[in-house]
Amino acid sequence: MPGEPQDDCLFCKIVAGQIPATIVRETETTVAFRDINPQAPTHVLVIPKAHYENAGSLATAAPELAADVLRETQAVAEQEKLESYRTVFNTGSGAGQTVWHAHAHLIGGRGLHWPPG
Ligand code: AMP
Ligand code: ZN
Repeated sequence: MPGEPQDDCLFCKIVAGQIPATIVRETETTVAFRDINPQAPTHVLVIPKAHYENAGSLATAAPELAADVLRETQAVAEQEKLESYRTVFNTGSGAGQTVWHAHAHLIGGRGLHWPPG
């Protein structure tokens, strides 16, 4: 069922507290934690607590929850004192998605080139 915890999902395990993470913010519906392999001085993942495979399926099934995730990226950026930052959702292995639980990468604290690679 979309939204239900998945036994084999790393991020569902972080939500459940079964795998440790450096949590920077938490709300009723979202968790934000530091990426284990940071690509910038600030690299935080913002996830819905409910399991959806990617950003598009999250937004289709639970638009308010998708908005919660986006709102939290801004809240984390403010907490991290970032004036500029990038929010990235990778969808599909060809785009670098490796964890099939929707997540926003919040990246900042260094120069960010445009267009991205
Ligand atoms: P993606 O490649 O877009 O699916 O993003 C998954 C991200 O999760 C990668 O940037 C990984 O470095 C990160 N990651 C994997 N395992 C963990 C973990 N245990 N704690 C925090 N971040 C993780
Ligand atoms: Zn999950």
